[in-house]
Amino acid sequence: MIKEGWEVVIGLEIHAQLSTESKIFCGCSTRFGDEPNSNTCPVCLGLPGALPVLNWRAVELGARAALALGLELNGRSVFARKNYFYPDLPKGYQISQYDQPFSERGELEMMTSVRDESGHAREWKPMKVRILRLHLEEDAGKNVHEGLPETDRFSYVDLNRAGTPLAEIVTEPDFRTSWEAYDYVNHVRRALQWVGASEADMEKGNLRCEANVSVRRTGEGFGTKVELKNLNSVRFMQKAIEFEIERQIELIESGGRVSQETRLWDDHLGETRVMRSKEEAHDYRYFPEPDLPPLVLPEGFAERVRAEMPELPEARRARFMDEYGLSYPDASQLTSGRALADYFERAAKASENARAASNWIRSEVLRELEAAGRGAEESPVAPEELGALVRLVDGGKISGKQAKDVLVEMFRTGKTASAIVEEQGLAQVSDAGEIERIVSEVVAANPKQLEQYRAGKESLLGFFVGQVMKASQGKANPKLVNETLLKKLKG
Ligand code: ADP
Ligand code: MG
Ligand code: ZN
Repeated sequence: MIKEGWEVVIGLEIHAQLSTESKIFCGCSTRFGDEPNSNTCPVCLGLPGALPVLNWRAVELGARAALALGLELNGRSVFARKNYFYPDLPKGYQISQYDQPFSERGELEMMTSVRDESGHAREWKPMKVRILRLHLEEDAGKNVHEGLPETDRFSYVDLNRAGTPLAEIVTEPDFRTSWEAYDYVNHVRRALQWVGASEADMEKGNLRCEANVSVRRTGEGFGTKVELKNLNSVRFMQKAIEFEIERQIELIESGGRVSQETRLWDDHLGETRVMRSKEEAHDYRYFPEPDLPPLVLPEGFAERVRAEMPELPEARRARFMDEYGLSYPDASQLTSGRALADYFERAAKASENARAASNWIRSEVLRELEAAGRGAEESPVAPEELGALVRLVDGGKISGKQAKDVLVEMFRTGKTASAIVEEQGLAQVSDAGEIERIVSEVVAANPKQLEQYRAGKESLLGFFVGQVMKASQGKANPKLVNETLLKKLKG
């Protein structure tokens, strides 16, 4: 909860690695985890005389990202040199974009949560976020301070990552709570993964975010902002923002002033600390990159990219509600990832009962997948097989309870539902004649209970049901058993 009389202002910058096979200005591989410095060449090492050549795949994936986030592509954009010295930056500058970026003017519609004190989402509401720009740039290398010999005396540098393509996505200061920022980053992550622009995995470092945070007394102008870095997960970011809000409000209330600075989140201490103040901040001396021509998009480029993209998550959620009659929360859950949405849609078709398929997936299937640490695309149970299982239940072949056990077995063995039902002799007896026969036997074998029942002790129905189920070894269709018994007992 934000203190009465105060308002929070947050703007976010996200760096997402675009999923190209090779780097943005040379042919070196972007593969993760290779021998340090093995994926390098004169261009990404910044050797004199080497010239960059733009990788068109990075442009296409950048365009996918921009369009998925509701930005407009600029027909002409310009690469610029951002100059600074750092050991992981061999050229002494980063090729980025400055005053003429690749895309601008986005308005993103997302859902944001209203949370209680313990962080549980109580309700969801729509929110609009203005995205200032998405531009293309290259990543730097990585300094290594641990895990190698004599790190007390040496630092190492791995330039495999230098020159990997990034999309930098900057919002207007439109967020008012840490949870809005949290929901936004998750929204962007899903959008980028969905269209195949980026893996957007914060743990692997291929999505990084920085939060700009300021506070003001309600009704006043924007306060001085602090930039937060070292946010290695969305949750860390949310916690860092919360900490920062409190720190700034306390500071101002006790007569101090917020200084414009960059602070790092320390998750062990649960606090932010100063990395550098604005006075030490860089003067990047941007100028247009002389070795690259302006990036001019061919006629019809945006339309072509759009046509190649899959149906976007929001559109798909709306269609799931429309076409399959799912509720908003169910459709949202099933469109939380593209593979899961595909899985549901195939299972829904095969089952001829979309609501049932949705229920099975959201409970049993997701639980099994989670336990196995797998995504929907790696499920050992194909969606068509789940559909077949649903049909067995709907056709009265097996009970819902049996189906749960069958599904567990399907996950364990990879066998089909019908094979397991056959093997274990699970098929329910739904043959009216067969049930009639067992019921007659059971009633005839229990004359005393029959007499009591007819004298008004109707609770004995349960006893008869139990006897019939036992005689059928649990296989009789319970609904049919009930109906048949009621008729028989009345006489
Ligand atoms: P800088 O030049 O310091 O990088 P920018 O104007 O480029 O600052 O803004 C960077 C980010 O900071 C953007 O996401 C923007 O929305 C956000 N921002 C700008 N002003 C504020 C503020 N007063 N409080 C919080 N965030 C802000
Ligand atoms: Mg900035
Ligand atoms: Zn290279």
